[in-house]
Amino acid sequence: MSDPQAFQAETRSWLEENCPKSLLGKGGGGIVGTWGGRKWKPESEDQRLWLERAAAKGFTAPTWPKEYGGGGLSKEEAKILAQEMRAVGTPPPLIGFGLTMIGPTLLQYGTEEQKLEHLTKITRGEIRWCQGYSEPGAGSDLAGLQMRADDKGDHYIVNGTKVWTSYADEADWIFALVRTDPKAKKQEGITFLLIDMETPGISVSPILLISGSSPFCETHFQDVKALKSNVIFKEHAGWTVAKALLGHERSMVAEAFGGGGGSRRSLADRARAYLPGADAEGPLPDATLRQDIARMEMDTRVFGLTMQRARDAAKAGQQPGAESSIFKVVGTEINQRRQELLMHIAGPQALGWEGEGFAEEELQGTRDWLRSRGNTIEGGTSEVQRNIIAKRVLGLPD
Ligand SMILES: Cc1cc2nc3c(=O)[nH]c(=O)nc-3n(C[C@H](O)[C@H](O)[C@H](O)COP(=O)(O)OP(=O)(O)OC[C@H]3O[C@@H](n4cnc5c(N)ncnc54)[C@H](O)[C@@H]3O)c2cc1C
Repeated sequence: MSDPQAFQAETRSWLEENCPKSLLGKGGGGIVGTWGGRKWKPESEDQRLWLERAAAKGFTAPTWPKEYGGGGLSKEEAKILAQEMRAVGTPPPLIGFGLTMIGPTLLQYGTEEQKLEHLTKITRGEIRWCQGYSEPGAGSDLAGLQMRADDKGDHYIVNGTKVWTSYADEADWIFALVRTDPKAKKQEGITFLLIDMETPGISVSPILLISGSSPFCETHFQDVKALKSNVIFKEHAGWTVAKALLGHERSMVAEAFGGGGGSRRSLADRARAYLPGADAEGPLPDATLRQDIARMEMDTRVFGLTMQRARDAAKAGQQPGAESSIFKVVGTEINQRRQELLMHIAGPQALGWEGEGFAEEELQGTRDWLRSRGNTIEGGTSEVQRNIIAKRVLGLPD
């Protein structure tokens, strides 16, 4: 970047001119925002316009190479763009597993053809992805997966069931782990395969969650034809790709929930609304709560800064390693503590499920609290992350 100040000024004026005013300050980030895809129905014309303009500029995936629809920005430029988006108040134009999971994995392991086909559609928000890893008998023991892909020359015939497939009912493509060599050692007989969800033989049934929504699905495959040209890296070598993607996933979950991204109303502001005698400016009239809030905000801030360092390293081309397990444990536990504290702050008002006696933010808070229970399970449980940290970060014996 020749002149950071010129880049900053140019970026700010582009954002001011191109992000529709109605979207400014709308926040978003994490799992809230524009997911795109064939089935996507924009909430407004402005939301669609913002995605279209940002994609044309390469700002949906700022550091990806231009030939794949990215912005080709350097690490420093991407940092300035993120700062300016925060300053102007623009929501992210696009979110989703394409940008955070399969995209970075394809950049590392995809062929040129696969990158040109899939990455460009991701950056334009045309295709939404879901993740087909877990099965009824394979969660923590992921390598024990049984979904079979039988070799038929230039294609496979896939049979089996995936479970906990987030948003499978809204996704267009799935990145799936399949067993291509049933006789090999379990990690060595797995292939990483991309499958169009419209292929005949795929059916999806939603699973209702404790939070009242159903982002989860069971995804059934019955004699599904999947082309070998959609194998990522090499046949039977899918475990290597799967682990790389999990590194991206764990960083994404940590960041989405742990306070590294998005915008939030401060805990102190939330508490003021519930504490008798609290004024708009002064300290909260409850010393214990004040201390809990201060500790929580400090932990969130420190975690956010640590994630920022990891993001910088990723933008400089470094792949996330076993340390993404540390981020996952810490980030998800911070979010669970935060949700508990918010429940404590709102008291009985935090116990609403529906009805006029509760504000929208309170009803959402109850659901967010329940949703946060899954944070320490998705992308690999905290127990499993601690095993990885013990072995691969600390080098402890088995
Ligand atoms: C919100 C959410 C979203 C998800 N989205 C997806 C998705 O999109 N796609 C997908 O494929 N999967 C998804 N999952 C599934 C997730 O990856 C699995 O739930 C997770 O890997 C755990 O597997 P399991 O549920 O089978 O639990 P199990 O593996 O049966 O574990 C049960 C318990 O045993 C413990 N345990 C297991 N093995 C060990 C061990 N070796 N040492 C110590 N303790 C152990 C676990 O920590 C856990 O407490 C999602 C899960 C959640 C909660």
